[in-house]
Parts: sequence; structure tokens; C-alpha cells
Amino acid sequence: MKKRIIKNKISPLSFNGGWGGSYAEAPESADHIQLKDTYDLFINGKFTAPSSGNYFDSINPANEKRLARVADANEKDVDKAVAAANHAYEKVWSRMPAAERSKYIYRIARIMQERARELAVIESLDGGKPIRESRDIDIPLASAHFFYYAGWADKLDYATPGAKSKPVGVAGQIIPWNFPLLMAAWKIAPALAAGNTVILKPAETTPLTALKLAEIIQEAELPDGVVNILSGAGSTGAALVNHPGIHKIAFTGSTEVGKIIQKSLAGTSKRYSLELGGKAANIIFEDAAIDQAVEGIVNGIFFNQGHVCCAGSRLFVQESIANTVMRKLKDRMETLIVGDPLDKNTDIGAINSKDQLEKIKKYVKIGTSEGGACYQSSCSLPSKGYWFRPTLFTNVSQSSRIVQEEIFGPVLSIQTFRTTEEAIEKANNIPYGLSGGVWTDKGSKIFKVTSQIRAGVIWANTYNKFDPTSPFGGYKESGMGREGGLHGLMPYLEIQH
Ligand code: NDP
Repeated sequence: MKKRIIKNKISPLSFNGGWGGSYAEAPESADHIQLKDTYDLFINGKFTAPSSGNYFDSINPANEKRLARVADANEKDVDKAVAAANHAYEKVWSRMPAAERSKYIYRIARIMQERARELAVIESLDGGKPIRESRDIDIPLASAHFFYYAGWADKLDYATPGAKSKPVGVAGQIIPWNFPLLMAAWKIAPALAAGNTVILKPAETTPLTALKLAEIIQEAELPDGVVNILSGAGSTGAALVNHPGIHKIAFTGSTEVGKIIQKSLAGTSKRYSLELGGKAANIIFEDAAIDQAVEGIVNGIFFNQGHVCCAGSRLFVQESIANTVMRKLKDRMETLIVGDPLDKNTDIGAINSKDQLEKIKKYVKIGTSEGGACYQSSCSLPSKGYWFRPTLFTNVSQSSRIVQEEIFGPVLSIQTFRTTEEAIEKANNIPYGLSGGVWTDKGSKIFKVTSQIRAGVIWANTYNKFDPTSPFGGYKESGMGREGGLHGLMPYLEIQH
């Protein structure tokens, strides 16, 4: 009897004319979306024209068309919002029985659920993220945060056992463009549950779902002034930070701006929490389930176009499996569909803005000029809009700029290691410490590595898992303070012993 010989296929799969082109388009409809031509500021429960009369455009990054004109808040508007928030804090919200506050927060969560489809489409239009992500991750998680903190509002005594707590007062909250509604929820929900009132500034390129949230807050009949939303640029954020009527600043964004804020607040009595940049190590050991790990690498760096502070942007692969992982990763990259964010087939949507696209291109040039070997998937890109191919770099070193600096795009740098100690040392050799990932079959290795990596969140055999009950935040230049879970209440409470 002849033996059947099964050969190991080592050459990469060929996808020419294959998977990418074979999907029929499946666009989500935008017919049910109601966007106004112009959005004003949300101050004291009403939409109010900006003092300056100035508006800026919010652009759809997938086609460069204007979605709406949005008000630009200046110092006078910040003044008005601070006065409204202080009044609402003193006279209404901090005095209200906690169980009543809880009902309002719960109502916001329910209305967000009811309007989830509308919010998901607007999030994808305004920010460029794939509809599958805004529909299945951003919006459900945003409402989950309101549900979760609605539950805490009347149980704060259990949050601080043996001590009483009081709200801090008025919180100024500044959020970035990568998860606009989710970041608004991370900020607003715990602040309200703890009895504070808020002024939120969304990012300039993605203000629309925050302004939709203002409509939801009206619909939920929250008392006037409890939540105020001021669209604007960096100067609006700075005016919030520097306003004497604010008691706490919560910021998510770049480390650079985080440092500016920290300097401005030094010597004041304002509290602050900062959730800043990251450059996470995703570590694959030779005993990992390789196919799952490859999915984890793809999710880690290409989720939300790589516009993720906790993105697994530094990959460390054990040397013995490096060739296999590289081959499988390149094959998988070829199957990623880049294009229309509203198409349900799309894996990677539009880059959030022209500026961000330029920044990513600049880093890819730097990577190449420093000797890195660049590989990009061969997918086609739409002619209009801001796009970037899934990209990886090999032949990089610990000191390469693309290894040390946050790119905030779909660009992965890959290095190898031999021992666990080497992986840990390389992973920690970075000014950031927000997140990390470890892939191995051995529980003991998971414990060893996760206990020695200096980062706030580390996933084991998975990546980018979020839950309102889990705290999230960074070490080192990734910031201070935690959001989410019981820990996320603490920045909004004064503890009294
Ligand atoms: P920024 O840190 O500039 O923006 C974050 C928020 O802060 C925005 O609402 C922004 O307003 C506001 N802001 C800007 N300047 C000031 C200031 N001086 N005082 C107070 N608020 C201010 O991030 P960018 O949007 O410019 O992105 C630049 C880089 O930052 C990215 O490439 C990425 O590397 C990193 N980043 C990291 C994020 C994270 O979650 N870790 C999130 C976003 C960016 P406006 O939108 O009008 O500029």
C-alpha cells in the first residue's frame, strides 16, 4: 500500500482576484439618520448659538464631504456653561436623592439603546470607523457604561467602605476623536452617578454623536445645566482647563496635550485624571495557539484603523515561530477589506482626518529611512477620502522611532525575542504603560509576564476587550487615574473619613 504524503504548505496563500473582491456590497442605510445642517452649543439644557458666531465643518473622512456645521465655543461660552453647571450642582443635582439621579442615568442608557442604529451610523460617518465596530462595540459599550453607573448612584456608601463620600463639584471633560460617544460615556456616566455636573468638550473632528447625546439628555429630561456640551477646538479645551469655576478635569488624548494640562493645573486645587497615549507590547510565545494569536494581532493593531490608545502596536514574537507567524499574518492582512465605513464587510475604515493621515505617512517614511522593512497589504483604496493600507515593519530596533512613538494608525512594528525575560524587558522599554497582550498556553507564563509588565491593562490570549466594570488607565506617560468600574468613581468623589 502506498503511503500518502501530506506536504506542509509553506508559501503564502495567493489572494489575487480572490476574497477581497468576492463580497457583494452590504451598505448600512443612512436614510434614517437625522442630522441638522447646523449644531449649536448645549448649555443649561438648551441649544445656544456660540458667542463668537463662529462655526466649523464636521467632515466625513470617507468622502471629504461636510456633514454639518458645528459651533465653536470660546471663553464666554465656557463661562456660561460653568455658571450653569455650578448652579445645577448646588441647587439640584448634588441635593437630589441618589436613587432619583440613578433613574435619569438609566433613562439615558435606555434612549441610547433605542437610538443605537442612528448613533452607530453617525459615528461611522463622522469618524470613519467601520459600521460593524460602531454598531457592535462603540454604541453598546457606551450605553452599558450608563447602565453600569446608574447602578452605582445609590450605592456609593459601598464604594467607600468605612467612609462617606461627597461629589467633587463641576467636572470639565475633554475627549478625543477615536471613540467619540464611548469616551463621552466613560466621562459623563461616573461623574453623574457620583453627583457631579459636567461640561464636555468633544474633539473637533468628531463632535456629532456628543451633540446627539445632548438631544438624548433633553429627551431624558435631565435638569438643566447638569450636562453641558461645548464643541470647539483645542482653545475651548484650554479655556475649560483654566476656568476657576471647575473642580475637576478629566482628559483623554495625546500625552503632549496631557502634559500641557498637567502644567496648567499644577498649583491649583483642581483634581485631574489623564488617559494618554500608549504603545502596547503584544507578546506571542511559541506555545501560543498561533491562529488565534494572529487574529489577536490583527485585532490589536487594525481595530478602528489603529486609532486606539491601547493598540497592540509593538509585536514581539518568539524567534522559533517568527516565520510561521509572519506568513500567517501577511496572509490574513491580504483578506482585510479597506473601504466604505458603512459597508458591513469593511474591516478597516477611513483615517479620521487629513492631518492624521499625514502623520501616519510621516511615520512610515521615518520607519523606512531608519532601515525598517515595510510591508503593506495589496488592497485597493477608494479614490476620495483618507485611507491607509494595513502596514507592518520588520527589521526595526528598540530605538526606532516607529517602535518608541505613538503613530495612532494601522502600522505595526515587529521584533523577535528568545526568552521570557527578554520579552518583558523589551516590552517595558518604552515611556508608555497603558496596555499589553500575552499569548501562551501556560498559565504560569501569563502570571509571570502580566505581573512584570508595567501597564494598566494586560490581556491574556485575547485583545481589546472592554467592559464597564473593569478599570482602564495607564502607568508612566500613559497618564494617571482610572476610568471604568468602581475605580472610575473615585476621581469624582471626595472621601470623608
Ligand atoms: P489631542 O490630545 O490634541 O486632542 C484630544 C482632545 O484635547 C481634543 O478634544 C482636543 O481638541 C483637545 N485639546 C487640544 N489641545 C488642547 C489644550 N491645549 N487644552 C485642552 N484641550 C486640548 O489629540 P489629537 O486629536 O491632536 O491627536 C494627536 C495625537 O494624539 C494622535 O495622533 C495620537 O497619537 C494621540 N491621541 C491619543 C489618544 C488616546 O486616546 N490616547 C486620543 C487621541 C489622540 P481638538 O479636537 O479640537 O484638537
